[in-house]
Amino acid sequence: MTDIRKEIEKRRTFAIISHPDAGKTTLTEKFLLYGGAINLAGSVKGKATARHAVSDWMEIEKERGISVTSSVLQFNYDGYCINILDTPGHQDFSEDTYRTLMAADSAVMVIDASKGVEAQTRKLFKVCVMRHIPIFTFINKMDRDANDTFELLDDIEKELGIATCPINWPIGSGKSFKGVYERGSGKITVFADTEKGTKEGEAREIPLDSPEIDEIVSEEQKSQLMDEIELLDGASAEFDQELVSKGELSPVFFGSALTNFGVEIFLKHFLSMTTSPLPRMADIGVVDPMEESFSAFVFKIQANMNKAHRDRIAFMRICSGEFDAGMEVYHVQGDRKQRLSQPQQMMAQERHIVDHAYAGDIIGVFDPGIFSIGDTICMPGKKFSYEGIPTFAPEHFARVRQVDTMKRKQFIKGINQIAQEGAIQIFQEFNTGMEEIIVGVVGVLQFEVLKYRLENEYNVDIILENLPYEHIRWIENKDIDLNKLVGTSDMKKVKDLKGNPLLLWVNSWSIGMTLDRNEGLELAEFGR
Ligand code: GDP
Repeated sequence: MTDIRKEIEKRRTFAIISHPDAGKTTLTEKFLLYGGAINLAGSVKGKATARHAVSDWMEIEKERGISVTSSVLQFNYDGYCINILDTPGHQDFSEDTYRTLMAADSAVMVIDASKGVEAQTRKLFKVCVMRHIPIFTFINKMDRDANDTFELLDDIEKELGIATCPINWPIGSGKSFKGVYERGSGKITVFADTEKGTKEGEAREIPLDSPEIDEIVSEEQKSQLMDEIELLDGASAEFDQELVSKGELSPVFFGSALTNFGVEIFLKHFLSMTTSPLPRMADIGVVDPMEESFSAFVFKIQANMNKAHRDRIAFMRICSGEFDAGMEVYHVQGDRKQRLSQPQQMMAQERHIVDHAYAGDIIGVFDPGIFSIGDTICMPGKKFSYEGIPTFAPEHFARVRQVDTMKRKQFIKGINQIAQEGAIQIFQEFNTGMEEIIVGVVGVLQFEVLKYRLENEYNVDIILENLPYEHIRWIENKDIDLNKLVGTSDMKKVKDLKGNPLLLWVNSWSIGMTLDRNEGLELAEFGR
């Protein structure tokens, strides 16, 4: 096997999706610990310390030369080269969060055992389903009182519509959490509240039929476990790698990231069940990651990350072959040959220049303003384009206008450029002469970013007037007469930059009503 093949085959590129506070940061930190990337994972207590832990990694990175970035973390474990993609949550939640999932080959869904499926997980999950990538579930915080295990699984199946297959099973929760029973081996891994931040937790394994069990598990817990195993074996889906690979069956694991219990068990199983870099669709057909010829697509553009440099960084996912910093590549949409400027694998105060990277890896390159989301980069002479990145439905809308009407030109230019970067989406009202612009965003913070950037970069003050719409759908029917469409009282017809017709509603139930009133109407949640 050639070196390139080996490099690509050992790559595992995945995103962790969760609702804020479910434990994504803590779990990531523990993964890094196993990768030997850090000696002591900071014990993450609250949000403030969580941030602190991240900045600590940067120091460590400088020392060890590992790749730690706000966007991608790369580390080695057990012969694998792992790329974890960060999906920003909280107030940073934006379209970028969705787009990041386009660069991943699988997803790990972290769920708080006392909460079940929450809003943000639900949203991100939809994108994973659209892509048919494998989805793994880690049910976290078992050291706290948890919901009933069957109910948790039921919640995932009902809320998300994916079958689940527990690989292990918890014994109790909270104060009475005793460990997990591994269904494959029939062994119990005994819970030990590992000294926070150390790797070698006491991972004691005891066969279920060993007399030692009685010292750890009460009679009542044991008989409950036996009942649950029986029920589980009879009722739950069997493990089926093919269904897992297609994203139709989610292997489920239980643990506690904070106390570092069940994390390594999860990591090991996950790495063996997930996939090496996946082939990608392009206009020339499917492109295999093992193809020698380098290719990548841009999935995220970050403007002005560093105030000292007013530049943009284009993040690209390498989809085939090897990237070599010295080589000349071809930017398909720009129809230009070029060398990628300052390719880097790390984004922070410190930027590491990469010399080589492989299919599965993410690199960030300096962008003087030539790249757009979804662009393809390949080798000269091998022109093709990867399938575009869909437009994700915004969830917040505002009417926007400039304060000084004399500045119409700058305003239009600025807002169009910012929309091209993919930070916002702009819509116009259908059939009205009014030059009204409606801005849609996934995360409300984007409104502030828009205002700030228009003021600072284009010298235009704007007024944003929030609109009550929360739901949007693209109309799929090619030849529809919008004037004949029978809507609801809370509906608005708009069009996007490409002239595609869309509908906005205030209430979610109005979507169904509109569908009922217009036979044959086809609506899509993602724009093309
Ligand atoms: P994120 O927002 O998903 O990245 O969540 P964090 O990793 O920052 O965790 C949120 C809070 O939950 C923090 O206070 C963590 O210390 C805590 N936490 C994370 N994992 C566990 C766990 O397994 N058990 C308990 N009890 N707390 C946890």
